[in-house]
Amino acid sequence: MSDRNSDRNPTSAGGPLVDGPLDPEHDVAASYALEPEHVASLTRRLVATTGRTVEVRTPLTGAPLAHVPQSSAEDVEQAFARARRAQEAWARTSVGERAAALLRLHDLILDRQDEIIDLIVWESGKARKHAFDEPLHVALTARYYARTAHQHLDTRRGQGVVPGLTRIDVNRVPKGVVGVISPWNYPFTMALCDGLPALLAGNAVVAKPDAQTMLSALYAAQLLEEAGFPADLWSVVAGPGSEIGPELVARADYVCFTGSTATGRRVAQGCADRLIGCSLELGGKNPFLVLRDADVERAAEGAVRAVFSNAGQLCVSSERMFVADQVYDRFVERFVSRTESMTLGATLDWGNDMGSLISQQQLDTVTAHVDDAVAKGARVLTGGRARPDLGPFFYEPTVLEDVTPEMTCFGEETFGPVVSLYRFHDEADAVARANAGDYGLNASIYSRDTARARDLARQVKCGTVNVNEAFAATFASLDAPMGGMRASGLGRRQGAEGIARFTETQSVATQRLLRFGPVLGMSDDTYAKVMTANLRLMKKLGRA
Ligand code: NAD
Repeated sequence: MSDRNSDRNPTSAGGPLVDGPLDPEHDVAASYALEPEHVASLTRRLVATTGRTVEVRTPLTGAPLAHVPQSSAEDVEQAFARARRAQEAWARTSVGERAAALLRLHDLILDRQDEIIDLIVWESGKARKHAFDEPLHVALTARYYARTAHQHLDTRRGQGVVPGLTRIDVNRVPKGVVGVISPWNYPFTMALCDGLPALLAGNAVVAKPDAQTMLSALYAAQLLEEAGFPADLWSVVAGPGSEIGPELVARADYVCFTGSTATGRRVAQGCADRLIGCSLELGGKNPFLVLRDADVERAAEGAVRAVFSNAGQLCVSSERMFVADQVYDRFVERFVSRTESMTLGATLDWGNDMGSLISQQQLDTVTAHVDDAVAKGARVLTGGRARPDLGPFFYEPTVLEDVTPEMTCFGEETFGPVVSLYRFHDEADAVARANAGDYGLNASIYSRDTARARDLARQVKCGTVNVNEAFAATFASLDAPMGGMRASGLGRRQGAEGIARFTETQSVATQRLLRFGPVLGMSDDTYAKVMTANLRLMKKLGRA
């Protein structure tokens, strides 16, 4: 793999385009997205009165980005009180008005994408092309739900028990105030995408983004307001997840959580105590299957995106590859060669294939997983070392062979640019190995016989399966529900399920003429016989 240390691009009008490793003294505030007034206008949006701040630094250089005010339990209370008032008025607006605001948001995000991407790159250290996926995904989400709003939210006429006399209306009623707890890995889209269908369904949101990426999440809130959503409808609070997260869970009418399986379990326990619902989008150890009839070049291209997008800090990225004997050597040669030609660097421009990990903690985890595997006999086909010459938290894209169950990276999520390769002789065995472990988020299957691959997909215990694609086909198809089986989560984002979770289903029955029970002096016994005959007749008539 190569790095881009040498030539530096000039600063452009749209923000600094800096190639190669950034100087630790680089003037971060020179980026138009990070001018002090802009940062102040974002942090002012927080409901945070403690007077305490936490410094956020960019993983690109380690330089300070902002001081983010911190919220207290009282601030969270205040955010919910404001959100409840805003929600009452919002629930009275028409679905059409709410959908129109989402379409304005769609346009705004596409217009402001450069600024959004700059902010994401500064905060997360990811490559620009991976940051681009975020405004793209939010725009897709906004348009999908705006265009399908009536399909999901309009009152549905159901079939009444007595045809013609019992009318059934099934309403979708908003839950109230939804708590959204989001991680740092996709700081813009994870903060925003789940909340959009919640707003469309008539809810308010109190959001608690990860402490490392508050600015992207605050910018998302600013864009919502600019698109015409009322200010208090989306409040943002800040603070350590272990302190502020439970404060949200204690007050919300529904919780939408994205993060690790360990934290997800704690959130679920808190929700169970309050008898409120939650959706949990959690971790994965996602399998990638290359069948004997796969197009090897295509599989190798997909493998690079599957493993190294956002430096592997992606819930749906692949960390285990099962490759058929017949194509194993060719696939490994092509995959390793493509990996070695990747460009790495701490830049704001489009040139790089992979950026930094987000933090020392992520770097420590990745290093520990690789070192443990190597110490126990794994072979490094490429990568396997940190790159402090590029930035404080860079790690090379790494491909391992001979990984065995005693090694940490065999079953635990690394959440970094590391993959283990396994050979298989028999497809049933490959599926069994893919299904081993507790996770079940995403899988990829590469085969020229797509019908066979789809059949095989039904045996894979994952919430999404991509045939001849890494993860983007399901992720970007908003009509496809997304989420995890087993320890990878509960509930689904996207599609009909992605908005139904933010509503209560209310059935209203209107009974005409005939009442329930014996009529005209009929005995209970006769009534039971009439009803039994009625049931038999209805079955003959083919009614549900
Ligand atoms: P994390 O669980 O540590 O943190 C996620 C969020 O939860 C953060 O906002 C954090 O502040 C908050 N939090 C921490 N403790 C809390 C508590 N006790 N109560 C409530 N909230 C609390 O996860 P992370 O390390 O930041 O994110 C990486 C993990 O997220 C990985 O496992 C990854 O696979 C997963 N993830 C899943 C998806 C998905 O859609 N399935 C998407 C992105 C990330």
